[in-house]
Amino acid sequence: MKILVVEDEQHIAGFIRKGLESAGFCVDVSNDGDDGYHLATTQPYDVIVLDIMLPGRDGLSILDNLRKAKNAVPVIILTARTTLDERLQGLNLGADDYLTKPFYIEELIARIHALIRRAGGAAQSMLQIADLTVNLLTREVQRGGRKIDLTAREFNLLEYLMRSPGRVLSRSQVLEHVWGYYFDPGTNLVDVNVQRLRKKLSDEGRQSPLIETVRGMGYKISDE
Ligand code: CA
Repeated sequence: MKILVVEDEQHIAGFIRKGLESAGFCVDVSNDGDDGYHLATTQPYDVIVLDIMLPGRDGLSILDNLRKAKNAVPVIILTARTTLDERLQGLNLGADDYLTKPFYIEELIARIHALIRRAGGAAQSMLQIADLTVNLLTREVQRGGRKIDLTAREFNLLEYLMRSPGRVLSRSQVLEHVWGYYFDPGTNLVDVNVQRLRKKLSDEGRQSPLIETVRGMGYKISDE
């Protein structure tokens, strides 16, 4: 499950990211309205957490533009305590829920789960490539009907690759999304985990492994 958080206050954004990641979500954070809008319109998200007062485009205008473009992604707006107006405006513009700052991260997580369920998360909760299926709700992985046990990290790595089939993901992108490292820790963490994942997915009988190494660039998963 992938969440976009558009929030310009770094400490709040950081607190949300940490909380959501420890609840198993993949999180992208944007600190700016224009950049947030760009991400929201170019990447698939399961839920967007949207602050209202932002540099660049404000949250309400982001929401308005998404809905005008028939983008139905569930949106939770974050509002200040005193601004009933913003809340009403947000709901009128098509927000699915709102949360008043300050809030407990547990409450945000509960509301995100509720929105995903309401949005028919069950239908979007399966990722598939070739004979490999990943159920994002039960976190069950199967290949050709055989159940595969993965560690949490291996699961997140596989999910990240499967959300962008055919796209080459660099080691630093993988490190950032799966491990939360914004720097290269100078280890072969990614390579080791990809090897392990490949072994568990056992590619025997296939011409090329599902997870391909693209020399000098990174990894991609594809059904070729
Ligand atoms: Ca703000």
